[in-house]
Amino acid sequence: MNTHPLPTRYEDIIALIDQIDPIRYGKTRNFINGAVTQLSPYISRNVIDTRMILERLVARGFSYYQSEKFIQQLFWREFFQRVWQSLGDSINGDIKREQEDVAHHAIPSVLLNGTTGIQAVDQSIHLLQQQGMMHNHMRMYCAFLTCNLGKAHWFHPARWMYFHLLDGDWASNALSWQWVAGTFSSKKYIANQDNVNHYTGIQQRSTVIDCSYEELQDLRQPQVFNAHELPQFETRLPVVNSIQLDDQLPIVIYNYYNISSTWRADMRANRVLLLEPELFTAYPVSEKCIDFLLALSKNIPGLQVFTGSFNELLSLSPSATCYFQEHPLNRHYKGIEDPRPWMVPGSASATGSFFSFWKKNERLLRQAFN
Ligand SMILES: Cc1cc2nc3c(=O)[nH]c(=O)nc-3n(C[C@H](O)[C@H](O)[C@H](O)COP(=O)(O)OP(=O)(O)OC[C@H]3O[C@@H](n4cnc5c(N)ncnc54)[C@H](O)[C@@H]3O)c2cc1C
Repeated sequence: MNTHPLPTRYEDIIALIDQIDPIRYGKTRNFINGAVTQLSPYISRNVIDTRMILERLVARGFSYYQSEKFIQQLFWREFFQRVWQSLGDSINGDIKREQEDVAHHAIPSVLLNGTTGIQAVDQSIHLLQQQGMMHNHMRMYCAFLTCNLGKAHWFHPARWMYFHLLDGDWASNALSWQWVAGTFSSKKYIANQDNVNHYTGIQQRSTVIDCSYEELQDLRQPQVFNAHELPQFETRLPVVNSIQLDDQLPIVIYNYYNISSTWRADMRANRVLLLEPELFTAYPVSEKCIDFLLALSKNIPGLQVFTGSFNELLSLSPSATCYFQEHPLNRHYKGIEDPRPWMVPGSASATGSFFSFWKKNERLLRQAFN
């Protein structure tokens, strides 16, 4: 059964890239019905990458000036990936400063149930749970309501959102939550009802955030955010009993963060989608995320699915050379590690702010348009 709403054939995904309108994007992206691309589920799974998107925009004749806002957003992804690469698992804790004014380390029930009372937010939570999608601005509102108004620590609510998102990428997720909660930014993000109404087109009044920004700064935790819980999130992985490996050939390893059908496509190899239960215990995802991954995996001819650890896979063909792409979650793999397709290769370290990273690399991005 198709539990997600998105196309998964490679040709159809490439066609989506060519529909990007960077000019309209720059003007409307913050609006719920703005010209956003919905490409992140494919970028997060590495079916396509930000470098390829940049190159196709250049090929279509857009100037840097016309594309700047869009390129900058793409570069947020690169920044977050670089931070994860630089800091590893420490992105799971508060990065720059401790989150202030934390009442608990659980998830507000109103977030889990989509009953915050802010209509636009509640609708977007239901959409997230049904379809695995949520607009960026709605994610920001959810994180603001949860952390800065509801006084929850960001970590468990972030895991809840990641669980549901088809574009779940722990770097973009954890670091965006931290950005909103003020642990990876200079100040907490807040928004009032006027702001929500403006960007969603819903005219709602008399909610807990229907006040001025000055009042919002001093607002105490509204009662509706008192109840909280800590549900267990579990991933249901396909049970795979056996796979056939040709001992004469290397193993090309795909996983949740890399299901690229163009990477090492010409090589004669065993192709295995490795689903490690331990990884999904640490970073659980919903059934529709797994269904989406498996649907995307059909773009890779001859691919076999293996549920087990890297070492269990290797024990099936101990002398095989393994090929994989670099990623913070692959550090226990052994074999030949390929670099990822970065927008700015070689700009490895990022620990400061996005804008210092942007300033450092903007010239190189601009040159791609010359
Ligand atoms: C609390 C919170 C949680 C988030 N969790 C995730 C997540 O798990 N996975 C994920 O991919 N993104 C996450 N984001 C970032 C952003 O919301 C999504 O990348 C974006 O909404 C995806 O929709 P789109 O493809 O239509 O983006 P577009 O607006 O069309 O942007 C094009 C691409 O640029 C990149 N991009 C755009 N905005 C951002 C951003 N703010 N941060 C990082 N990259 C961006 C993405 O790769 C995106 O696909 C999160 C943001 C917030 C505030």
